[in-house]
Amino acid sequence: IPAACGNSFVIVGGGIAGVTCVEQLSSQIPSADVALITAGPHIKAVANYKQVSRALEEFDVEERPSSVLEEKFPNLTVIHSPVKSLDTESHSLETTDGQVFGYEKLCICSGGRPKLLTQDNPYVLGIRDTDSAQEFQKRLSKARRIVVVGNGGIALELVYEVEGCEVIWAVKDKAIGNTFFDAGAAQFLIPSLEASKPEVAAPCKRPRYTTEDRASGSALGPDWHEGIVLRGAEQVSRRVSVEYHCEVEKIFTSEELLNSPVKSDCGKNFPSVSIGSWPVCILLTNGKTFGCDFVVSATGVVPNTEPFLHGNTFAVADDGGLRVDDHMRTSESDVYAAGDVCTACWEHSPLWQQMRLWTQARQMGWYAGRCMAAHVLSEKIELDFCFELFSHITKFFNYKVVLLGKFNGQGLGSEHELLVRCTKGQEYVKVVLSNGRMVGAVLIGETDLEETFENLILNQMDLTPYGEDLLNPNIDIEDYFD
Ligand code: FAD
Repeated sequence: IPAACGNSFVIVGGGIAGVTCVEQLSSQIPSADVALITAGPHIKAVANYKQVSRALEEFDVEERPSSVLEEKFPNLTVIHSPVKSLDTESHSLETTDGQVFGYEKLCICSGGRPKLLTQDNPYVLGIRDTDSAQEFQKRLSKARRIVVVGNGGIALELVYEVEGCEVIWAVKDKAIGNTFFDAGAAQFLIPSLEASKPEVAAPCKRPRYTTEDRASGSALGPDWHEGIVLRGAEQVSRRVSVEYHCEVEKIFTSEELLNSPVKSDCGKNFPSVSIGSWPVCILLTNGKTFGCDFVVSATGVVPNTEPFLHGNTFAVADDGGLRVDDHMRTSESDVYAAGDVCTACWEHSPLWQQMRLWTQARQMGWYAGRCMAAHVLSEKIELDFCFELFSHITKFFNYKVVLLGKFNGQGLGSEHELLVRCTKGQEYVKVVLSNGRMVGAVLIGETDLEETFENLILNQMDLTPYGEDLLNPNIDIEDYFD
């Protein structure tokens, strides 16, 4: 697209946010020139989209050749080359292969990369894309013990899926899965870690990701481990021990240990391991030391902003994301951002928060596309309903998990009440109430409560008269509120 050409949109990133943005723009303004610039050979697409309820959605994610998109939208050009630099003043960007593209409106959807505990340590792995997942699998097949650091979704899935290898799981909180649930839910899930895995996995109800093709550089999505055997070198089924309330103090390779004064610490706290027998040794802030084959760093993502920052004056949030307003605009004019790379800096609805998840990447990409089109067409547009209520469906430890609103009482301080119902091995239901109104819920298992609770959260009805009956299993709550 020549710089002088009018009505031209450039989208950077072939992940879910970028592709959804392209699709939205191209269908809304079919005559516009749209270019998608992406680092990898493939793009990600949403398939089998299903609206489960007003706020909850499910879909499959597929890796596809970009030609599929180009065939669908004749005015779309896909360029496979990473963006090297951006000049917001002249409205142009350059790719590493030296091509220069002008834009009228640009949307940055370059995602994020794993936050690594240390850079350039061959014994520390981050999992982000198909390539790194395959590297992990390869290394795991020869491993006897690994240490997983982190307490988010990736760590949760990993420790549950890995077999044939001892897993030491270091979490910084006092309970597992802190990003998603409270200590009660963690308590409900812990027995699943101790039990052997069910022979036949329950049918998978959430988005499926294909791993047949090579990596595209996009973040993996749900079920990234499906189809990848996560097996270590030992005969054991699952063996996980959790180290709570600790972070990583230091990571040593065996060579470093041999020449280091800390050598005795490592030996002292882990006497059964002679220092030289493990390639790497990890010292935790709780004073314990573990030798292992490698360390998996699953401590979140860092937004991929570098190529865009230099020479420009983007406002960047504390978490490293590009700050965007309620129209997905960054602080630089005509530059939008969506997905993992951005930080939502508008005044959030009291029931929504940003989490770097698949569904939000789709919603932001779609909404950014609509905003870009609306601005070009001088139309008014308001913040979409999907940012009204946080909602997420996933699966942890083979249980269906639904999260709604302020499911962990986020930002509510002590101003909230919890109601909990738990049947061991079957379901865990938690409701967060503030001033008698439901503001969040965690539903684990086949509770069938998501739609009713979603409605109760959205209509902010005063539930004080119902008290604990709200979770009384003998009352059919759906009938109650119909
Ligand atoms: P990405 O999917 O990361 O796409 C970024 C795109 O930008 C890529 O195509 C990349 O090639 C391109 N790019 C990057 N830099 C440049 C550049 N300089 N120039 C050109 N192109 C560039 N979410 C869930 O909801 N549920 C889950 O179960 C879940 N599991 C996950 C498991 C793993 C292992 C990981 C890593 C993530 C998981 N996530 C999950 C999170 C989810 O994958 C992300 O939130 C989502 O993919 C973000 O989409 P995106 O389009 O913003 O970015």
